Amino acid sequence: MLLDGNDGWLIVDPTPKTLAQYVEIESKRAKVTAKLKELRETTSTTRDGRHIVLSANIELPGDVDAVEANGAEGVGLYRTEFLYLNRPSLPTEDEQYEIYRKVAERVRPDPLIIRTFDLGGDKLAPGTVDIADELNPFLGWRAIRFCLENIDIFKTQLRAILRASSVGNVKVMFPMISGLDELRRAIAVLDECKVELSSSKIDIAERLEIGAMIEIPSAAICASVLAPEVDFLSIGTNDLIQYALAVDRVNEKIAHLYEPTHPAVLRLLKMIADAAHDHNLWVGVCGEMAGDIALIPLLLGLGMDELSTAAILVPRVKRAVQSLTIPECRELVEETFKLDTASEILARCLELADKRYGDLLS
Ligand code: PEP
Ligand code: MG
Repeated sequence: MLLDGNDGWLIVDPTPKTLAQYVEIESKRAKVTAKLKELRETTSTTRDGRHIVLSANIELPGDVDAVEANGAEGVGLYRTEFLYLNRPSLPTEDEQYEIYRKVAERVRPDPLIIRTFDLGGDKLAPGTVDIADELNPFLGWRAIRFCLENIDIFKTQLRAILRASSVGNVKVMFPMISGLDELRRAIAVLDECKVELSSSKIDIAERLEIGAMIEIPSAAICASVLAPEVDFLSIGTNDLIQYALAVDRVNEKIAHLYEPTHPAVLRLLKMIADAAHDHNLWVGVCGEMAGDIALIPLLLGLGMDELSTAAILVPRVKRAVQSLTIPECRELVEETFKLDTASEILARCLELADKRYGDLLS
């Protein structure tokens, strides 16, 4: 049997001809991968000299090895839910501090962006926190909503993050922000933790940068309202697409409707990027879109300053960035805004991607 994970084929009893085709594909890929390894020490700069920060998403502390190995500039999204999953008790402040500290030390001077707990939705922690069954878990008691109602859990994590900020280039970001009140409440809890730690003479960084994850359409539409309150915006396209298109991201039956290049998604991304730049903030993408090399021209043209993706994809994204110029990406975005369907927009993106780094697409 032949399993083609790229195109989703399981081929039973392949003919010699099919086998030969796959041997050829494999050897081509091996060559591309070997060349990508050479990029490790290079920077992710476009052909016309624009540096795009290329960072990695991690989940388990052990993932940090891959950050360095793949030449990423730090961690753009540290998903911390693992601390709650598959265990019988809640993680203490000291335990969290030790974990964050070790990762921060490993990636410094590059940044480590820690996302506060995003429990609920598809990330459940039975046994430790009690999120009862909900009719619509993705629209329910999740992430920042859960944390703001469970202040002890939230503060324990924030205190651990603040303590780790004294040893590395740590930043914090809040998931599932839907509007300004929620963001302000989260920042107020963070401020409270700062005061408590300082009055106990516990070291924290002088300044901890704060980001809002933009992954709910209301936050995208109000990005200009949120921007003045934070230091950066990080777009969670996995959720943003699901909420904008009303397509459950884990429901296979409607997977064909989950379209990152939907014109509505493009417009939301533009609103967010423009709002960030109007307020002199940097803006990044940490959802799966940032690792899809066909879509890199689109993201650069929209003005993204940072891309954060699975470490293993970093070399490919770097090659894509190094092959493009910002003016051609902007031109692409202008053209895509005149197109009406996701498939037309995707086709246009693929055209440019193919011209610049076609070997990566095959
Ligand atoms: C996202 O929603 O794009 C994201 C990065 O967060 P997660 O996939 O963990 O929900
Ligand atoms: Mg998300």
